[in-house]
Amino acid sequence: MPAVILTDIRTARERIAGKVERTPTVLSHSLSEQFGVPVHLKLEHRQTTGSFKLRGASNAVASLNAEQKARGVVAASTGNHGRALAHAAKLEGMRAVICMSRLVPGNKLDEIRRLGAEVRIVGDSQDDAQQEVDRLVAQEGLVMLPPFDHPDIIAGQGTLGLEMIEQVPDAALVLAQISGGGLASGVATAIKGVSPRTKVVGVSMARGAAMKASLDAGQPVLVEELPTLADSLGGGIGLDNRLTFAMCRDLLDDVVLLSEDEIAAGIRHAYAQEREIVEGAGAVGIAALLAGKITANGPVVVLLSGRNMNMELHRKIVCGDTSINAGRAG
Ligand SMILES: *Cc1c(COP(=O)(O)O)cnc(C)c1O
Repeated sequence: MPAVILTDIRTARERIAGKVERTPTVLSHSLSEQFGVPVHLKLEHRQTTGSFKLRGASNAVASLNAEQKARGVVAASTGNHGRALAHAAKLEGMRAVICMSRLVPGNKLDEIRRLGAEVRIVGDSQDDAQQEVDRLVAQEGLVMLPPFDHPDIIAGQGTLGLEMIEQVPDAALVLAQISGGGLASGVATAIKGVSPRTKVVGVSMARGAAMKASLDAGQPVLVEELPTLADSLGGGIGLDNRLTFAMCRDLLDDVVLLSEDEIAAGIRHAYAQEREIVEGAGAVGIAALLAGKITANGPVVVLLSGRNMNMELHRKIVCGDTSINAGRAG
C-alpha cells in the first residue's frame, strides 16, 4: 500500500481546517478560448504565506506530539517550505530553524526571519543545507520536517488536490508543479482517488529537473542544481528518497519540462491576461499550455502554486525585458 492514501488526505484536511485558506478556482477566459476546452486556474498562490506549502507544514506540525512540539522543528528549504513551517510553528508557539543554501533569493530569507524562524545559510546546494539539519537533529534534538519526502507533508499537500477535484469535478487533466514531488504525490493521490479517469501531469523547468531525470533513470539520481526563474522547483529529490519517487512514478501520467523563456511567458500571461502575480514555479502550468506541450480533450485545471518572487525581477519580466538572465533570478 502507498505511504499516503486518500483517507490520510481527508484526515489532514480536518486537521488543518481553519489554519489554511480554501483558495478559489476560476475559469481563465483567455486560455479557454485559446485551447478550445475550459481551462480553470486554482489560485493557490493566494494561500497564506504565498504558497501551498502551508498545507503540508500545518499538517505535519499539528501531527507532532507534545514532547516533539516542545523540542521544535528544523528543515532545509529553498524558501516556501521554510516560510510555511515558520508560520505553522509560530501558530503552535514552537521553535523553528530553517537551513538554506546561498542560492536562495534574499527576499525569501528576510520573510522567513520576519515570520519568527531562525535562519542558517549553509553551502551551495540543498544537500549542504540538509547536512546542517542533520547536525541540529543530532545535537539539539530538533524534529526534522522535510519539504516533501514525509507522509504528513504529502497528505497536507494532497488537500489541494481534493479542493481542485471538488471545484472542477469533470476535470480531464490537472497540471501540477513537480520538484521534490510532495505536491504532485499528494495531489495525484487525491485526484486519482476521487476521479480515477482524470490525468495528472507534472510540470517542471528543464534546468535541473531532478524528478524527471530520476523517473527516466528508473531510480533517484543527482542533477546539477542551476539557477532558474522557477527557483522554488530547484533542488534534488534525495538519493535516499523514500516516498515521492515511487508515488510520482506510479501516479503521474506524464512530466513535461520548460525552457526559461517559456516560464517567463507564463509569468507574463498570468499578469497581463489573468491579473495575477505568480512566481516562476507557480506559472509553469500556464507556461506548458502556452508552449503547446500539453494536449487536453476536456476541462483542464492549472495549479498556480506560489507567488513569492522578487518584484523587481517580476517587473522586468512582465515588461518583456529580454536581457533577463535566469542566473540572476530572484
Ligand atoms: C515547493 C514548491 C513546488 C514544488 O513542490 P514539490 O513538493 O517540491 O514538488 C511548486 N511550486 C512552489 C511555489 C513551491 O514552493
